[in-house]
Amino acid sequence: MATLGNPQKTIEIIQKYQFAFQKKFGQNFLIDQHVLEKIIGAAGVAKEDMVLEIGPGIGTMTQYLAENARQVVAVEIDKNLIPILEETLSGYDNVTIINEDILKLDIKALAWEHNDGKPIKVVANLPYYITTPIIMGLFESGVPIDNITVMVQKEVAQRMQAGPGTKDYGALSLAVQYYATPYIAANVPPNCFIPRPNVGSAVIRLTRHPEPPVSVKDPVLMFELIRASFNQRRKTLQNGLNNAQNLNFTKEQIAAAIESLGVQPGVRGETLTLSQFAGLANYLSKESGCGKMK
Ligand code: SAM
Repeated sequence: MATLGNPQKTIEIIQKYQFAFQKKFGQNFLIDQHVLEKIIGAAGVAKEDMVLEIGPGIGTMTQYLAENARQVVAVEIDKNLIPILEETLSGYDNVTIINEDILKLDIKALAWEHNDGKPIKVVANLPYYITTPIIMGLFESGVPIDNITVMVQKEVAQRMQAGPGTKDYGALSLAVQYYATPYIAANVPPNCFIPRPNVGSAVIRLTRHPEPPVSVKDPVLMFELIRASFNQRRKTLQNGLNNAQNLNFTKEQIAAAIESLGVQPGVRGETLTLSQFAGLANYLSKESGCGKMK
């Protein structure tokens, strides 16, 4: 039986171990059972699953995961939490605790070791200071993933889910949506954590696409074009791409690529869909023959 997930028990554990919260690790522990159930439900955690939990803290969500999954691997950077986790998870034989920085770990190897290389689920109440590197790292490194269901800052969840032409739409929306379908499962107020964060939070599920939704010959070039378009949000797409330091296409090549999309020459990058950015990249990679030319 999960015993954590409420304020009393959390405070009791913290006092027993005289645990000192470390701001640099983004430590805000969940104390609301309904939110925990919502996360497990959104991730669809089932008995055959291997779940990677990033930052188990005192093991609150880990207990819920252990009860619902076949195997849980929990990676925690703060060595002061390890003796606590050993106590709170002592009743479970399907949990492996690793004291490491998630950004330094070979997660692909973990998926092989614990799940024969089959797709894993990633569930976490993420440390907000490294949300984007963790999520993009998981997608880009080719870890076999079913879905990533995580608590993040509310604004970040909105940016991941945003579509073309909205104020939240940007490079993060396109990067995430190239790999996955986002779905915001819950908004979570600061009073569901100890200590309370200064920002609102949201649970977002990112269900990995079996194949990318667009066919793009040079994804690196596509993401360079995306970054250049959003770096200068107020400029037209043409000017944004002309001014970009990393791109060396001529004005004529850029104009022709934009025209090939069938959009107005004065279009802004923020109105383009993922498939249009793919079209732009495919046109320009063909144009230059070897990537970039001036
Ligand atoms: N899962 C717990 C909960 O919901 O109560 C704790 C969540 S807290 C927001 C984030 C956790 O991630 C903390 O326990 C923190 O120490 C850990 N953490 C921070 N940076 C990390 C990193 N680079 N690698 C692994 N864990 C990290």
